[in-house]
Amino acid sequence: MILSEIDSDFGVMRYIRTALMASKNLLLLAGDGIGPEAMAEVKKLIAAMNDKLGSDFVTDEGLVGGCAYDAHGAAISDADMAKAMAADAVLFGAVGGPKWDAVPYEVRPEAGLLRLRKDMELFANLRPAICYPALAASSSLKQEVVEGLDILIVRELTGGVYFGEPKQIVDLGNGQKRGIDTQVYDTFEIERISGVAFELARTRKNHVTSMEKRNVMKSGVLWNEVVTQTHKARYADVKLDHMLADAGGMQLVRWPKQFDVIVTDNLFGDMLSDIAAMLTGSIGMLPSASLGAPDAKTKKRKALYEPVHGSAPDISGKGIANPIAMIASFAMCLRYSFGMVAEADKLEAAIAAVLDDGLRTKDILSEGMTEVGTVQMGDAIIAKFLG
Ligand code: NAD
Repeated sequence: MILSEIDSDFGVMRYIRTALMASKNLLLLAGDGIGPEAMAEVKKLIAAMNDKLGSDFVTDEGLVGGCAYDAHGAAISDADMAKAMAADAVLFGAVGGPKWDAVPYEVRPEAGLLRLRKDMELFANLRPAICYPALAASSSLKQEVVEGLDILIVRELTGGVYFGEPKQIVDLGNGQKRGIDTQVYDTFEIERISGVAFELARTRKNHVTSMEKRNVMKSGVLWNEVVTQTHKARYADVKLDHMLADAGGMQLVRWPKQFDVIVTDNLFGDMLSDIAAMLTGSIGMLPSASLGAPDAKTKKRKALYEPVHGSAPDISGKGIANPIAMIASFAMCLRYSFGMVAEADKLEAAIAAVLDDGLRTKDILSEGMTEVGTVQMGDAIIAKFLG
């Protein structure tokens, strides 16, 4: 987008000016389906923090996904993209739904999320797998294997086989075709993602496990080498282990508590983070963060926080969506974008306490528990957080 275009849009300019002046600027992109329902609970929480705790969050909102396509014919407008670039952090709900299944590929709802990740250069995807004590019994694994689990998967998000060239299907002319994807990593990409993992480990149990397939892949050999060098040069105080990614998958379901931070590439991270996620129960519980490089001047990282789940068209509009993944994503935002560690801890404790009290949305309901809707769950968490 050229500056004159931004100039012509007074709203964007005003937002960007505010973003430069105030300390905590959030852009809320609620999206489609249950996205706005879950985001409404975070909006209440932010208002309560400003009102009762003297926090100084400034929020603005934009459109992404199907609703942006309806309004602008694009999955995210240039104006909203400019707001995202200027914000300290973006909170993202969910996009998509049957209404937009037939829209052109370039403007499909997910294209909005992909553009945000690309333009903001969000190369580090953080997916925690935390098992709340009250939900340990409902995991598919034995209670003692998951109870108290708290691990963090750091996945490289902008490189590797999903982006490497060539990427094509070639017609071999003999009735056969060849599908080609290219796994490619440069030193700087491995250095920066492992740096994020080591830094995060220092705020946790100080232990990183790096996973690759150096036994069969050249990119795995380089990955192993660069992680080892980065560790030696800058993070020797952190404990580092290496594990083959397939063995890592097995260990994740055998004894996940052996891990603290796992760092891995885009493809393995995609799979390992889904495995880790399911250790802890419903998809409605899972937050995530995607971070970029620190700005040379301000040292702030661009950041986007989103629940792992999608827009859940099957339950949208019914008031029964679980807002915990969205609220826990906001907790990650407090922790990683604003250094509000005490508040993030308190918010996560509030979620655990509400679950201990037996409140459950439909997706995590079990016998003897009290079923509540989205709003009641949000209210209960906010009350515990403030109380
Ligand atoms: P989904 O995550 O939306 O739903 C899967 C199942 O989990 C559904 O039964 C749903 O009701 C349930 N569920 C999800 N979140 C829940 C919550 N917070 N509370 C209670 N139940 C919840 O995945 P899907 O059905 O495969 O996809 C639906 C739409 O979302 C599609 O258009 C898809 O493209 C899109 N999608 C978007 C994102 C994103 O925005 N990041 C991610 C995945 C899917």
